[in-house]
Amino acid sequence: MTVSAVKIIQPGEIQSLPDDETPLLVLPVAKDVFRERATRLAQLSESAPLKDWLFFCSQVASAQEDSVDQVTSEQLDENIIKESLRHGMPPTSVTTWKAGKDWDEAFKAFTEALTKKDLLPVVRQSLDSFVKADQAQLKKQAEDFLKADEKDVRPEWAPFIGAILQMIWTKKVAQLTPYAGSYRGENSLCPVCGSHPVASVVRVGARDGHRYLCCSLCASEWYAARARCTNCDTPKEVSMMGETKESLIQGECCDDCQGYLKIMYQSRDPMMEVVADDLASIQVDLALSNEGYQRTGRNMFFMVSGETEEKES
Ligand SMILES: [Zn+2]
Ligand SMILES: [Zn+2]
Repeated sequence: MTVSAVKIIQPGEIQSLPDDETPLLVLPVAKDVFRERATRLAQLSESAPLKDWLFFCSQVASAQEDSVDQVTSEQLDENIIKESLRHGMPPTSVTTWKAGKDWDEAFKAFTEALTKKDLLPVVRQSLDSFVKADQAQLKKQAEDFLKADEKDVRPEWAPFIGAILQMIWTKKVAQLTPYAGSYRGENSLCPVCGSHPVASVVRVGARDGHRYLCCSLCASEWYAARARCTNCDTPKEVSMMGETKESLIQGECCDDCQGYLKIMYQSRDPMMEVVADDLASIQVDLALSNEGYQRTGRNMFFMVSGETEEKES
């Protein structure tokens, strides 16, 4: 596949925050997130070139759906939540996390759910080694992976570690729903947990035409003005690179920092799910990489070493 510039967006084209009731922060319902992701991955695995990989990812997401409600979260203080959101500081920041009881609980729930699936032999093998691994080492790998420090993380365990971390955070942030209105900012990283977005989505329905960045970890969505690089906030124009003008997925490319983040238009496929469609569109990443752009989005189902530059926050 090749990509070409389909549109150059000038700064100022669509830039200010909405002044109506459009929400600036939308928090996830944990079970729904994983159900929709598993369904979409299963659908994509029927036709995409990476069939086995996408089918495996659908089994992982389905295990997340089956087990996420067994994860309990610590109660967060209401005032801390409100004040943090108001000042653009993530109330459930990833930076200070240490794997403890939350990890033990989510690890057990997830691995028990995944082991019940009809796994390919190679997957069963890596799951077995993951379950038997030294817990202290695993916890260290989880803490590293969370901060995108991947040099000591076993690549075949990365999707399991990523899945467990997503369960912990998605469950934890769901309790922030009543306070979402406290957030009025414009963040390039997730305002709830501080992680990188996986991509951005232009929504339909009640949020029609508005663009949101989608958290790779906790599945929160936060408003992002269009026509601006989400990596470096350059005031210069960005360009859309895609296979065709009508493709579901385009790369929003910045010639200032040479970074790109995928943007997806829900109106072009209402069934789209951001993490699933990101995994199924590796050909877009390859084409954009051939054009000299570097991926700035993160996907917790694979390692990003060597292909992502650290973002300025
Ligand atoms: Zn987040
Ligand atoms: Zn940029």
